[in-house]
Amino acid sequence: MVAGIFSIIMSKTNLKSLSKDEMFDFTVSHGLPRYRADQIIHRIYEKYASSIDEITEFSKELRKALEELAFISCIRIVKRLVSSDGTEKFLFSLDDGRLIESVLITDKNRLTLCISSQVGCALGCRFCRTGKLGLTRNLKSHEIVDQVIAVNRILAEPDVITSRAHLAKDKDGVFLPRKITNIVFMGMGEPLMNFDEVVEALWKIVIFTGISRRKITLSTAGILPKLPLLPQQAPEINLAVSLNATTEASRSGIMPVNRKYPLAALIGACEKFPLGPGRRITFEYIMIKGVNDTPGDARRLVKLLRGLRCKINLIPLNHDGPDGLRPSSEKNILEFQEILDLNKMTALIRRSKGGDISAACGQLASPQL
Ligand code: SAH
Ligand code: SF4
Repeated sequence: MVAGIFSIIMSKTNLKSLSKDEMFDFTVSHGLPRYRADQIIHRIYEKYASSIDEITEFSKELRKALEELAFISCIRIVKRLVSSDGTEKFLFSLDDGRLIESVLITDKNRLTLCISSQVGCALGCRFCRTGKLGLTRNLKSHEIVDQVIAVNRILAEPDVITSRAHLAKDKDGVFLPRKITNIVFMGMGEPLMNFDEVVEALWKIVIFTGISRRKITLSTAGILPKLPLLPQQAPEINLAVSLNATTEASRSGIMPVNRKYPLAALIGACEKFPLGPGRRITFEYIMIKGVNDTPGDARRLVKLLRGLRCKINLIPLNHDGPDGLRPSSEKNILEFQEILDLNKMTALIRRSKGGDISAACGQLASPQL
């Protein structure tokens, strides 16, 4: 009996797994006009419907008939933590019980969601707690997009806890609509190690949620074979590269992936990366005491990145960095930045938010994984 029910569920179509064309094909192949596909898309991605019953444009009979054929999968929220700075962390459970985290960062009139692309990560960077977990599995594209839908659904609730103090008001003093405006792939996982699903998720986000591709950033540790494929296959989003060191030896010491895809080749791939007008690559550089923070490192960084259209984010290591790594001193960080400034490089110091709820960069590591 259980097996019988399971096979029925398995044969149903998950509407969230469908692209726009597939949604049209699905409705047309079941004798429904194309506008029905638009109605389903609107309900799922703009009204955050979690069941077919919520597609109220459809008559009761039609909803019943659709329920025989299809369902709407939903990641489930397990825990929600709010930081003293307004940052929020969401722990989600997937269909198979695996857990992932997403982080919502409130900043003036921006609501940025930091999303996960994998359960864990295989790359094992020494400074990163996600890396300590190893990889459990890749996320499907709909599980990636569902983080956006789930948080938007929460934000649309009238009793939302999120600190509104940071948000802009319109001219009448009314808070602006509560909806995610920006997305960063900086949560759990290495997006380019889950390339196909991430590319599909990017298209779904751009086409279905209305978030502009200019407001989406993918961060990678530098998976070289995939880097040139990104602009060929994905919408034109922003690229961030986790650089974190200026010599092959020091980068390999903290990022084992550097032994396979070395720094020199990574910079070469960035030089070839096509950039539209006004676009720049962001290089992320975690400042770690005694590892990568000397004036010599700063000068080598200038040399490495000279001629590249880029900006550099200097990120003091989050305090709970594993393996006894410590953040650079404030003095070292400022001196490092000054050398970059003097050499006409754009370098900002980025302080992680949400430290008190382990929501900051590199701190995402669900306990049950
Ligand atoms: N795997 C991708 C994206 C997820 S990691 C990547 O590595 O780029 C997202 C960002 O968090 C990366 O820039 C990474 O360098 C940063 N990060 C990881 N651990 C950190 C830590 N302990 N302190 C500060 N930033 C960290
Ligand atoms: Fe993976 Fe990125 Fe963490 Fe490195 S920094 S272990 S690539 S998630």
